[in-house]
Amino acid sequence: RTQTEAIPAVAGASLRVPLVTGETVGYANLDHAASAPCLDAVRAKVDEFLPWYASVHRGAGFASQVSTKLYERTRDVLRRFVDARRTDTVVFTRNTTDSFNLLARSLPRHTTVIVFDTEHHATLLPWAGPNVRRLPTPRTRLAAVSAVDDALAAAPQGPRLVVVTGASNVTGELFPVAEIAAVARKHGARIALDAAQLAPHRRTSIKELDVDYVALSGHKLYAPFGAGALIGRADWLRAAPPYLAGGGATKLVTEDAVVWNTGPERHEAGSPNTVGVYALGVACETLSENWAAIEHHEQALLTRLRKGLEAIPGCAELRLFDAPVDRVGTVSFVVDGFDPGWLAAVLSAEYGIGVRDGAFCAHIAAKRLIGVTGGDGQQAVRVSLGLGSTEDHVDRVLLALRQIVARGARWEYTKVDGRWAP
Ligand code: PMP
Repeated sequence: RTQTEAIPAVAGASLRVPLVTGETVGYANLDHAASAPCLDAVRAKVDEFLPWYASVHRGAGFASQVSTKLYERTRDVLRRFVDARRTDTVVFTRNTTDSFNLLARSLPRHTTVIVFDTEHHATLLPWAGPNVRRLPTPRTRLAAVSAVDDALAAAPQGPRLVVVTGASNVTGELFPVAEIAAVARKHGARIALDAAQLAPHRRTSIKELDVDYVALSGHKLYAPFGAGALIGRADWLRAAPPYLAGGGATKLVTEDAVVWNTGPERHEAGSPNTVGVYALGVACETLSENWAAIEHHEQALLTRLRKGLEAIPGCAELRLFDAPVDRVGTVSFVVDGFDPGWLAAVLSAEYGIGVRDGAFCAHIAAKRLIGVTGGDGQQAVRVSLGLGSTEDHVDRVLLALRQIVARGARWEYTKVDGRWAP
């Protein structure tokens, strides 16, 4: 960790939320994996930019020039953020889901796609048709690499794409991306990385991992909603039909023909989200300067959290892999005898703690992993740490869980529109 590194501050540290008793308490946001709070640096820069934003590319006015410059400059910021190759393109999208749908629409005909079935739905579902091979996720990282190797060996010749997540949004576990990329390379296949949960926590390098594409979301990277990116090889994207048809994507339109742009703007029709993209860029720059401090902060909290959860009777953590692996600060668990949705509702209403419950848009993963814990449902509770997390937040959730378990599931809650409410 260098002397100048710090844990970047985020908005929301002083938020207070109402409890069911009518009191208010400081909000413990333990749901960073869903959406992370805005960095103070992003907030300040966006505030400066707000009076200036104008339509990019089209306007001749000074504000349009400023906006266009910042928007285009952010492509370079993203390129640096993921350590991209000089030739990689950066297409701005709405989020990771949008990025993978764009990539899916840009695949050459008859591309074989290989993906683990426990992936987040954004990573699992955009690929359709007979050429998609869904692999069950093995219980070891080594077996995961072999499974991709075997699937590629059995795949027909022609374009092939492996899609894999950097860090699981359910368990925080890291997939062996570099090893899978090496296997893909050996077979002449390409590989796309879902960095939605990895990029907010670890330096993610296209060159070091040797992946072809990276998809990410601004709202998980401590920027407000609305902007994401797909970064990677330009050729398939350049040859694909425009993702959206409309202004900005065209070079020339005549009465009977359209000439589409070949750069990233080919897939960015319509007035782009200039403020969102700018915010994403500032977030990337801020994180890049502080990786060691960020990782140190999050890993210390993760250890504290996992140790505490282990001591809670009936609490079982979900894990993809049998052996312990490197992971980010996301932990999902079930507690014997307690409905996860109910637990999450009590944590919010009685303790002012925000967690997530459910199957985390990864239904196959949730079902399989909860089966392994002996839990009978298909849902769990997820605590996810990040820059807004403190030791106090971790201690509060552990104390709350201990108290809830000690008292038993006897509080009066009812289900309203599918959610438990006091
Ligand atoms: N992949 C993973 C691993 C995720 O956690 C998420 C968001 N939960 C996504 C993809 C989709 O991201 P977004 O909702 O921003 O499109």
